[in-house]
Amino acid sequence: MAGKNPIAEKIHELTDRDLTFMHVCGTHEAAIARHGIRSLLPKNVKIVMGPGCPVCITPQGEIDAALELATKGCIIATYGDLLRVPGSNGSLESCGADVRVVQGIFKAIEIAKSTDKEVVFISVGFETTAPTVAAMLLTNPPKNFSILSCHRLVPPAMKWLLSQGEAALHGFVLPGHVLTVTGLDEYRQFPVPQVVAGFEPDDILLGILMLIQQIRDGVARVDNAYPRVVNDEGNPKAIAVMNQVFEPCDVEWRGFPVIPLSGLKLREEFSQYDAQKKFGVEIKPTKKHAACICDKILRGIASPVDCKLFDKTCTPRTPVGPCMVSHEGACKIWHHYHIRN
Ligand code: SF4
Repeated sequence: MAGKNPIAEKIHELTDRDLTFMHVCGTHEAAIARHGIRSLLPKNVKIVMGPGCPVCITPQGEIDAALELATKGCIIATYGDLLRVPGSNGSLESCGADVRVVQGIFKAIEIAKSTDKEVVFISVGFETTAPTVAAMLLTNPPKNFSILSCHRLVPPAMKWLLSQGEAALHGFVLPGHVLTVTGLDEYRQFPVPQVVAGFEPDDILLGILMLIQQIRDGVARVDNAYPRVVNDEGNPKAIAVMNQVFEPCDVEWRGFPVIPLSGLKLREEFSQYDAQKKFGVEIKPTKKHAACICDKILRGIASPVDCKLFDKTCTPRTPVGPCMVSHEGACKIWHHYHIRN
């Protein structure tokens, strides 16, 4: 039942077929779970998760590279969410090296200024965080500072998903914070309905309603259900700073093969801040735990309850895969809100 929410009621009224929509944002998954949004939708409207959690999509090879940097004596500065993500042989939390949790690159640079040791910031995130990292690298951080760039770009992953057709998607709920930076243009290449949505329950429901309206009208465009924050052009200054420091590169995502031009590497002029080059660290292809289905969850073709380990062997205290570690990971979110279907 739609209850008394007028947007949910309208969704019920207009839904006349089976529909599957994907969001590509851990914050959307958390909001959908917290507010029970799936329970407000008709049974034939399915919302699946995509590769929207930056920690979850960081492949094991990048975690192993961070661990290798730690064993080389570097101080590792990282977001707390990455601490417990398992690599092939332990995690940053269990490695016994000097690993410090920071809120962002600014704090990591402060650490570098206070020591003679090498400090490496594990730099994860999408177009939301990469401009900030780029802006800080333009402030000439000290010589003992570098980053392991694990950044990813959202549109190439969406392009890959659509080219595979695995999840039979009818549209995307786009992440409001990413499009605040990028604007809408790059998303117009995709031949499916898309709506930018914010993070309040009504923002998400409105996004879903606008997707259904596009489908009923037989159109596929990028609509904006979050105009109080997102505009058409985004933040060109942030994008310019990001492009000044980084360039796109082919890179593997957890659960995906190498996706062309979906990562960000430092441009040659900034190579002194490239931890991989500075310490000769290679990122090797991922080997995944046999029973963990994070890969399928990140591609929208499975949900946490499809995993045999969910809430049994795998819990937030004993995570087997990254989706149970990060606050934006589907398994941790479903565990937290006791979602079982
Ligand atoms: Fe992987 Fe654990 Fe999620 Fe299963 S419950 S998919 S093992 S993270």
